Amino acid sequence: MSKILAIANQKGGVGKTTTAINLAASLSLAGRRVLLIDLDPQGNATTGSGLDKHNVTPTIYQVLLGQSSIRSALKKSSEGGYDVLPANRHLAGGEVELVDIKGRETRLKKALSQVQDQYDYVLIDCPPALSLLTVNAFTAASAVMIPMQCEYYALEGLRDLVETIKRIRIKLNETLQIEGLLRTMYDPRNSLTRQVSDDLEDHFGDKVYRTVIPRNVRVAEAPSHGHPVVNFDATSRGALAYLDLAREVMGHNS
Ligand code: ATP
Ligand code: MG
Repeated sequence: MSKILAIANQKGGVGKTTTAINLAASLSLAGRRVLLIDLDPQGNATTGSGLDKHNVTPTIYQVLLGQSSIRSALKKSSEGGYDVLPANRHLAGGEVELVDIKGRETRLKKALSQVQDQYDYVLIDCPPALSLLTVNAFTAASAVMIPMQCEYYALEGLRDLVETIKRIRIKLNETLQIEGLLRTMYDPRNSLTRQVSDDLEDHFGDKVYRTVIPRNVRVAEAPSHGHPVVNFDATSRGALAYLDLAREVMGHNS
């Protein structure tokens, strides 16, 4: 059975897309069949997978609105070795159009049910908002992965996210789990970072991934080349951390 992971945090710039791309590539390197769904109108997961978001069609926009089948919208990331359901800025308008559509929260789940058996892992890169798009991701997902930076306000933001997940469990998806919290852009020289990281472990225990993603310039450089860092510089600290994360995620399944 496929595992469907929503990669979400309503806070912007915490490493959701970077994690989605590099986890997809790392799981592919381990021989797993992976689909990466770009659910953000920014289309960064699409670009970072080596696709041209301006000229790609159909996208997830047409799929959510029922204008295209999910199969016809799937693309291959030749750089990453996984499949991509791409997005671009049209999705921003699509979210508004979705509001008036019947079953608006279950559109992604329905579309995904047609192809999910072809994959071991489906990763959904969510936008930085607890919006209808993110609700669609949480309704379709088996679990949520929460990338976060260990900063002062990080725990506060987490409370809203956990509340949203609880509400989704009651209304739309009773089996939704928190797969784990992922510390990203980690800099152990910063004492506040270390303290927030310790607080996180106290509050969430084994829900915090043992793998920590370090701040690493190669991770930031890779997307402009349309490559995951695990290909772009396979021996960089960032790449090694994402390969470790993939092993940890695969371990959760067994
Ligand atoms: P948004 O909320 O806008 O979708 P996001 O949560 O998806 O953002 P990313 O786009 O993955 O976050 O990362 C934000 C920025 O931080 C990017 O410029 C990215 O290259 C950089 N970045 C992410 N992870 C790392 C890392 N481990 N080391 C250095 N830079 C990183
Ligand atoms: Mg993003």
